[in-house]
Amino acid sequence: MKALTFRGIEDIQYESVADPEIATPTDVIVKVNCCAICGSDLHVYHGRETGIDAHTCMGHEFAGEVVETGNAVKNFAKGDVVISPFTTSCGHCYYCSIGLTARCIQSQLFGWVQKGKGLHGGQAEFVRVPLADSTLMKLPDGISLEEGVLAGDIISTGFYSAKQAQIKRGGVYVVMGCGPVGLMAILGAREYGAENIYAIDREPTRLEMARRFGAIAVDASKEDPVAVIHEAMEGRGADGVMEAIGNAFSVQLAYDLVRPGGIISAVGVCTEKYFPFSPTQAYDKNLTYVTGRCPARAMMPLIIPLLQQKKYPFQSIITHRMALADGAKGYEIFAHKKDNCLKVMLQP
Ligand code: NAD
Ligand code: ZN
Repeated sequence: MKALTFRGIEDIQYESVADPEIATPTDVIVKVNCCAICGSDLHVYHGRETGIDAHTCMGHEFAGEVVETGNAVKNFAKGDVVISPFTTSCGHCYYCSIGLTARCIQSQLFGWVQKGKGLHGGQAEFVRVPLADSTLMKLPDGISLEEGVLAGDIISTGFYSAKQAQIKRGGVYVVMGCGPVGLMAILGAREYGAENIYAIDREPTRLEMARRFGAIAVDASKEDPVAVIHEAMEGRGADGVMEAIGNAFSVQLAYDLVRPGGIISAVGVCTEKYFPFSPTQAYDKNLTYVTGRCPARAMMPLIIPLLQQKKYPFQSIITHRMALADGAKGYEIFAHKKDNCLKVMLQP
């Protein structure tokens, strides 16, 4: 089959690789009909996250059709159209039982193979899905395949960020980063009851989208977000900050923006070795800092009804659609925000 594979820093290639095969009886093979490039793929692309083997099939956002099932698979049959979270989960361990499916004891991240171990990704013609019964979902009625792909990661992650921020009516909230995840966090914050949402970025088109999604846009290249938020809050700072950028700058800024006793809900993947603020600084703010991988499989049932109701314009963030064969160009455009790129969908 053909797939987009990792070959080195900023080097993604469309190449022939071995077809995936059923490896354990709980696996299915999905023929990918639609997949996407995520901001998380960029950490690998730019070399901020290392360890992935050359020739690993990239990607963890995909949807498609079941073409083969292992002997133990009960919930899916050949021909089913399915959507998937970005990690696998068993559905019955302690972590699955508390809704932390991202930390399932058997969880694997799609698109991460290291020293021969791990799981190939969905930016490919076919993908092997372990623990299929508890990982996959049939494409729900009334939602498109593209919406299904968005549900498997970025909508779930944005809404998870908002959920973890414990939003209360009347509060003032900040979303940091207006990439796909941050934009979904704005919608999530609205869904959880926020009325005053500031959104920070430095890309005019992304800020414009944030405005359309109901936030007050703050251009960090032109104004000081700390001054803007503190002025709006009588010097206190925000009740909650949803951090969806993921670098030392953004974590420090989240700290500077949050009020004493407030919450930083960080979903941005920060690859720095240490926090930029000290334990004492955290103590001095009575800070709550929550972070981690989104349990997308647990979030998906909560957001699917919103997709079915067409409550928010989720799909409007898709700016580019191209063939999987042109995926290397898709990475380049998305990574460097060329052509006002916000989200790239790829069709094998
Ligand atoms: P993205 O790269 O498209 O978005 C990041 C945004 O931050 C961009 O719009 C960029 O302009 C903005 N930004 C970067 N530096 C800035 C600065 N100094 N000032 C102002 N704005 C700045 O990526 P995305 O797909 O939206 O993902 C965002 C983050 O979420 C990534 O770190 C990604 O790895 C992470 N993520 C986490 C999970 C999870 O489970 N926790 C899931 C998906 C993605
Ligand atoms: Zn992703």
